[in-house]
Amino acid sequence: MSAVPTRSDLGSLPVYVPGRTVEGAIKLASNEVPGGPLPSVAKAIVEAAANVNRYPDSGCNALSARIATEVDFPVSQIAIGCGSVSLCQQLAQAVCEPGDEVLYAWRSFEAYPTVTQVANARSIKVPLTAGHEHDLDAMLAAITPRTKVVYVCNPNNPTGTAVRREALERFLDAVPSTVLVVLDEAYREFVTDSEVPDGLEYVRSRENVAVLRTFSKAYGLAGLRVGYAVAPENIAKALRQVYVAFSVNMIAQAAAIASLDASDELMARVKEIVGERERVRRELIDAGYDVPDTQANFVWLPLGEETPKFAEFALDHKLVLRPYATDGVRVTISTPEENDLFLEAARAYKA
Ligand code: PMP
Repeated sequence: MSAVPTRSDLGSLPVYVPGRTVEGAIKLASNEVPGGPLPSVAKAIVEAAANVNRYPDSGCNALSARIATEVDFPVSQIAIGCGSVSLCQQLAQAVCEPGDEVLYAWRSFEAYPTVTQVANARSIKVPLTAGHEHDLDAMLAAITPRTKVVYVCNPNNPTGTAVRREALERFLDAVPSTVLVVLDEAYREFVTDSEVPDGLEYVRSRENVAVLRTFSKAYGLAGLRVGYAVAPENIAKALRQVYVAFSVNMIAQAAAIASLDASDELMARVKEIVGERERVRRELIDAGYDVPDTQANFVWLPLGEETPKFAEFALDHKLVLRPYATDGVRVTISTPEENDLFLEAARAYKA
């Protein structure tokens, strides 16, 4: 023990609980994609690794330029972070004064409460509807003069539900222009419903909208930690100002560029996962489960009080899922073989 006191509010800081890795079990707990890096990406990783005696480009200039081309925005509107979770933290630090409010649906991404509190801002959580969707009217009603940031996680983690165009536009029209609406699109590439809009169109047409994207999911680079924001120029600049120097390493930067170059191949993998998502959902419904429509690479089982029991049962079948208290279980879509093992366990649970 040391005599040096730490921050007095650390005891109340929500702890981010990552998906567990259990020896000998299949992990369907963290929304990772099952395939390893493509040969071209692995090559970029190895080449970058040869230079790790040097610091990475702290400005992530090559990657920012590549993303700017990809999304067709000026590079001044791009900010890179050590995963999009880091960008959530940078946002709170860059936008919020102490006591300002960050509003989001709940349940949603587990890191929002932590990064908000670390930045001395206040979380305002608005419950999802009974259908596990964002309650945008209630979120609007919860906006106060202290609200600085509103997250719309689209599709939502952990429920997979997505906000559609008309509802989102009505919401954006009603949000005060001094509030930043952050469309967290970590799972964007898995969206197949054409009514779920690409958030970038609102960054183009409005001054208070930002989009977060990541290389961790569809691009298969979760272990390398790299994500990006497309934001109004002043917000992107502020995000870069609070960036921890050198935090996105050179291997991650090189792999992200190589992944964008290989996006056709990666999106073919995404298509397979989406096909499996639809199959898994259908078979779960046939087996008697309630499964909301999902636009991400996971399904949500709102099992209520049975949540811990179901997760334990799955673990006995060597499957690690992601239970959320007494709300439900999130299950990542994987290969057909691993999905079949999960479906077998889910049917056995009902038997
Ligand atoms: N946003 C959402 C909605 C997520 O689910 C995740 C990862 N689980 C992230 C952001 C962060 O992803 P990363 O930091 O790996 O980019």
